[in-house]
Amino acid sequence: MTTQRTLILLKPDAVQRRLVGEITARFERKGLRLAGLKLVQVSRELAEKHYAVHKGKPFYESLLTFLTSGPTVALVWEGREAVAVCRTLMGMTDGAKSPPGTIRGDFALSVQNNLVHGSDSLENAAIEIALWFKDEELVSFTSTDANWVA
Ligand code: GDP
Ligand code: MG
Repeated sequence: MTTQRTLILLKPDAVQRRLVGEITARFERKGLRLAGLKLVQVSRELAEKHYAVHKGKPFYESLLTFLTSGPTVALVWEGREAVAVCRTLMGMTDGAKSPPGTIRGDFALSVQNNLVHGSDSLENAAIEIALWFKDEELVSFTSTDANWVA
């Protein structure tokens, strides 16, 4: 069994649209374990580091403006195949093309304002978790239903 950790962001549109509870519940009900959680007013510097891979693309500046436009919820989820599981729950980048049942498919219409970020590989998950969380902000625990979920 490969237990992984992944970084999820509920971007400023999720907070503004009061979808934090709804979206968080989807990851929670899937059986993932919460390992980190905080509300962040993202700085330009953090946004640049987080989206460094997109530097130079036409939407880069707009994306940074979006991510710094209001509070963001940062979460670390832990569980079996957590990286891929979270990406599946999120849907595709473009809300309009995401199937119903996914977070973006159910709540997003936009390409940019698509509510959630999720790490796209185990390697990037480790990098992103270290960027957003200090070690002491992360918690490991055994959930009481672990034998039923795993
Ligand atoms: P993700 O991994 O599905 O989040 O998508 P990407 O890594 O390709 O892009 C990062 C984020 O940039 C997306 O979640 C969107 O918020 C935004 N984005 C991606 N493509 C576009 C685009 O063509 N135009 C705009 N305005 N934003 C985009
Ligand atoms: Mg991405």
